[in-house]
Amino acid sequence: MGKITIAIDGYSSTGKSTIAKELASALNYNYVDTGAMYRAITLFACENNCIVNENIDHAKLIDLLPKANLKFQLNRELDLSEMFLNGKNVEQEIRSMRVSKQVSKISIIPEVREKLVSMQRKMGIDKGIVMDGRDIGTVVFPNAEFKIFMTASPDIRASRRYKELISKGEEVTFEEVLKNVRERDYIDSNRANSPLLKAEDAIEFDNSDMGLKEQFERIHYHALQVIEKQKKNA
Ligand code: C5P
Repeated sequence: MGKITIAIDGYSSTGKSTIAKELASALNYNYVDTGAMYRAITLFACENNCIVNENIDHAKLIDLLPKANLKFQLNRELDLSEMFLNGKNVEQEIRSMRVSKQVSKISIIPEVREKLVSMQRKMGIDKGIVMDGRDIGTVVFPNAEFKIFMTASPDIRASRRYKELISKGEEVTFEEVLKNVRERDYIDSNRANSPLLKAEDAIEFDNSDMGLKEQFERIHYHALQVIEKQKKNA
């Protein structure tokens, strides 16, 4: 009782997933990384030749969409849920630059969004969930009790992403990562369907100059207040 829905939206590489994961764990809530779902569909499109010379064959992908079976599965050892595409663990592959370069173009396709939003709403039906993405507070759960919109300067975000990719052994340059961050911001913010924008009732959170510990403490504190209020009103 008293469980709420927490929506964390924002620009690429603002650290949404890290905070969302920690928050979910502290509250004993479920965590859903919706970016992983769009990334998995992008990998599916790559593997099924729906992307030729950087151009997306929308009709072909829409036709094949029912064959893309996505599932989050808990890795007990690492205590995190991993994305499976048609039974295969694709957690590493979906984070590669190959997928990052195409994902925003796949995410504009209304049929893709329809399929994923419907899955996301089912996952959050019982509340007690922290979901991060681009349209969670505006489209997926417009009635979420607690909404956060994360921002940080593009350079800082690219630098965080660059370090992450290098530590995983990817061969990328900082400029390539910065270009990708900017491109995704642009496409995500300007698409006709569910663009990235701050929900009116979301709290804006700029973490350019804030460490993870401080971010978590502030957001956790807010969340507890909202949960308390919810309990009193129940
Ligand atoms: O969160 P992440 O950076 O992994 O998301 C990858 C891409 O997936 C975003 O740049 C965006 O194009 C798309 N996305 C979306 N809606 C969401 C989550 C992600 O369009 N709710």
